[in-house]
Amino acid sequence: MSKAKAADIDFNSLDFSYKDLPYRYQAEYHNGQWEPGELTTDSNVQLSEAAVVLHYGQEVFEGLKAYRRKDGGVNLFRPDRNAKRMRQSAERLLMPGYPEADFIEAVKEVVKANSDFIPPYESGGSLYIRPFLIGTSPIVGVKPGNDFIFRIYVTPVGAYYPGGLRPTAFVTSEFDRAAHGGTGQAKVGGNYAASMLPGEEAHRAGFSDVVYLDPREHHYIEELGSANFFGITKDGQFKTPKSPSILPSITKFSLLELAEEMGMHPVETPIGIDELDQFEEAGAMGTAAVISPVGSITHQAKKHVFYSETEVGPKTKALYDRLTAIQYGDEKGPAGWVVDVPLDK
Ligand SMILES: *Cc1c(COP(=O)(O)O)cnc(C)c1O
Repeated sequence: MSKAKAADIDFNSLDFSYKDLPYRYQAEYHNGQWEPGELTTDSNVQLSEAAVVLHYGQEVFEGLKAYRRKDGGVNLFRPDRNAKRMRQSAERLLMPGYPEADFIEAVKEVVKANSDFIPPYESGGSLYIRPFLIGTSPIVGVKPGNDFIFRIYVTPVGAYYPGGLRPTAFVTSEFDRAAHGGTGQAKVGGNYAASMLPGEEAHRAGFSDVVYLDPREHHYIEELGSANFFGITKDGQFKTPKSPSILPSITKFSLLELAEEMGMHPVETPIGIDELDQFEEAGAMGTAAVISPVGSITHQAKKHVFYSETEVGPKTKALYDRLTAIQYGDEKGPAGWVVDVPLDK
């Protein structure tokens, strides 16, 4: 694959495809410690055919974005939370976490090195940042190795809903995303491998993605595809599920705070699939789309429509506008949420 050139990219019609940018960051772990990392130009990772990650899935990842401000500067959004979550995910798979302060510095370095590829403010796009950590020791039996690679690649992505927020239809699945006591709380690649078949079945049936129910009783809402769920009740409560097998979404924690600031009452509580009537609006939350309004959820052939199947509800829209205004630097948010990336060349 040839290297992308910024001059060849139409930043106003970007999708979510991978582009081979000039730089990525890589650090290696050997002999019980992280070696100093550096920027490299090679987009390929060289691995032993027996590397643990290839056979036993010892991999964790993160996803965050760099946002171009109106003044030309660049923001990260709560990268400390990604750094911490990645360390926690790594611990679940017996991998050495990458030090949190180094994580943030590495993100800044790779964003700065590829700054020509950060979409302009007006485009509504962003630079997607994908840190990941893999076990690389050649090992035949199932056990953790002693060698690891931490790497970060970045790629420019377009606005998720270029024409404005659009509700989509979800359907419950018989499949589980993660087991009770499994790796649902950790951002591990294996969870995603398990979600491909149910996701594909939902797409074929005309839905945008799957509603996963809790793995023990198949009654409580867990996740919507690879995003957390929220519903806004008629009396203004912003409710989101509480469960040990849900991935702790940074977008979710941020919206819980913003909901309170905006006069909604934030609640984390189990939400039964038979309790959808209480909600006036609903949505899915995650870094990729920020908020995807949920038009309907179909469960056992019965479709439940929320605010509308074609239009975003006013409270969902207000939350989306407030959060994205903070991310792009148009509005001030809670202290420490936005981190400037110095671009001095
Ligand atoms: C990454 C992820 C999310 C969203 O988390 P954010 O920190 O908001 O991006 C939600 N669910 C799953 C399963 C995820 O992997």
